[in-house]
Amino acid sequence: MIAIMSHATSEERLQEIVRHIEKQGVTAHISRGTDRVVIGIIGKADPKLAEQLRQMSGVEEVIKISKSYKLASRDFHPDNTVIDIKGVKIGGGELVMMGGPCAVESPRQIDEIARLIKAAGGQVMRGGAFKPRTGPYSFQGIGVEGLEWMAEAGKKHGLLTITEVMTPEYVDICAQYTDILQIGTRNMQNFDLLRKLGTIDTPIMLKRGFSATYDELLNASEYILAGGNPNVMLCERGIRTFESYTRNTLDLNAVPVLHQLSHLPVIVDPSHGTGRRELVVPMSKAAVAAGADGLIIEVHTDPDNSMTGDGVQSLYPEQFAELLQDMEKLAPLLGRSFNTHKEPVSSASSK
Ligand code: PEP
Ligand code: MN
Repeated sequence: MIAIMSHATSEERLQEIVRHIEKQGVTAHISRGTDRVVIGIIGKADPKLAEQLRQMSGVEEVIKISKSYKLASRDFHPDNTVIDIKGVKIGGGELVMMGGPCAVESPRQIDEIARLIKAAGGQVMRGGAFKPRTGPYSFQGIGVEGLEWMAEAGKKHGLLTITEVMTPEYVDICAQYTDILQIGTRNMQNFDLLRKLGTIDTPIMLKRGFSATYDELLNASEYILAGGNPNVMLCERGIRTFESYTRNTLDLNAVPVLHQLSHLPVIVDPSHGTGRRELVVPMSKAAVAAGADGLIIEVHTDPDNSMTGDGVQSLYPEQFAELLQDMEKLAPLLGRSFNTHKEPVSSASSK
């Protein structure tokens, strides 16, 4: 259920209404939009509460939301969510470009790739220190030391950083070293992990499970939002279909659908979505044309020797740079902006 406040409602009155709601044993989440303030009521409310609220001064309308997710829905938050990370705004019309290796491999590798991502005009460097591998004998990631190398490189080159976290126990340490936490496709419904992410305010990029519906993705995001962390972006990274030519089928329907159903920013990962280097550039452009707020792309200086085998889907740094130059021209045609010659991100990766 949501209660829409009338324009003239004072802050004092808003708080009185919130107290009234919370006395009933349910939680009130306030969303302040440009046009209106909405209170989202989460929990099993007494059926009489809707009637009571309708009669209270300051309340314009009370609407029952039938969807199972509430805080992630556009009904609750009509404006787009814009996540501001040290001046880089995600979801506000400016494209955000994330690039980097599948895995952090060495201090030298991550430093060199960071330099090239920055020179290309990217704002965020990706790199996994904890890798979710299909087989237990494959390289599982460098671990905490890799986080240190990545933070160092991010700071040196003025980039934000994003890394994957797989277990609740590692959330705090990953958040200490990186600006954005990535939840991988295999962990989209790791509910203990999602609940832990709700307790911090570090921005989260939640990847769609490779067999998850939009509804399941939005419900997964709801766990984080309901825990109190509003900084969530969604990521389409391809789903499993009968087609085996590509590693996954990049479902670009997800972009406009998720924007319709939700206010959260939508990022697209064309690297895992296709699994083939030659498809990454065209699908990146298609994703932006479909309305993506940003892209996360694997980039490697020596893809033939990538430690995770994701070299086959990694762009060479020159290809990433060329793509970003094209984006600069494309973005304005698609109602977005992108500028490859930006000021360095201030004090990125230093917490
Ligand atoms: C990755 O980003 O390297 C990764 C493992 O992604 P996904 O969870 O989408 O497979
Ligand atoms: Mn990868």
